[in-house]
Amino acid sequence: MSNLAVTVLPAAVVGLSAGLYAYAGMWPTSQIFGATVQSGSDPNEIALTYDDGPSPAHTPELLDILAAHNARATFFLVGNHVLRHPQLARRIVEAGHLIGNHTQTHPNLFFSSLDRVRLELDLCQNTLFDTTGVTPAFFRPPFGGRRPDVLKAAREIGLTPVLWNVTAHDWVATQGPDKILAYVDHGLAANRKQGRGSNILLHDASHLDTLVESHSRKATLEVTRRLLARPGLRFTTPEAWL
Ligand SMILES: [Zn+2]
Repeated sequence: MSNLAVTVLPAAVVGLSAGLYAYAGMWPTSQIFGATVQSGSDPNEIALTYDDGPSPAHTPELLDILAAHNARATFFLVGNHVLRHPQLARRIVEAGHLIGNHTQTHPNLFFSSLDRVRLELDLCQNTLFDTTGVTPAFFRPPFGGRRPDVLKAAREIGLTPVLWNVTAHDWVATQGPDKILAYVDHGLAANRKQGRGSNILLHDASHLDTLVESHSRKATLEVTRRLLARPGLRFTTPEAWL
């Protein structure tokens, strides 16, 4: 077991190996550290979820694409990015999309003290409410990193943790739309086989920067366009799965 694992190991999970502990704390569909929302049971039901925004370089175009298809999506917003671009956060809400808490500064909560976890959740919650008038009901941990006490802290302030079950790998700078769509299709096929819907992790910004136009974010927009154009799919939000 590594020293790192020892330092972050809460008493409740002593006995898990370091590898299993990392899996439980980082793997998006693991339920070992507590239940998280993944998707519904209808394979044609898809949630498009966009993390790390808002970004003036990409969010406005994304909103136009979603509006053209009358599709509702979910935006897990970073509090500090909302402070920089409050009008964009309001535009997301006014367009009828669901917003969620993605912490104030995007740390990996797997490695954060419980005090820091609570602060990150509270600050983001207050920032989103003060900016948009909406109190978020959903929370996605940055990088998917969580522990049992992280999920408990979120639930204590009324947040339902939402992970994902399709990873688009759209944060990798070299990925074009074809490659990203291949990852998505692989995930959609796996979920269809399991008889469940899909919750796709996408990004309309980088957690490090919201201003720079990026090749990979442009690819995300193109992937969104192609998914929305497919017949037979219904686009939903985690609210449908409670
Ligand atoms: Zn993120």
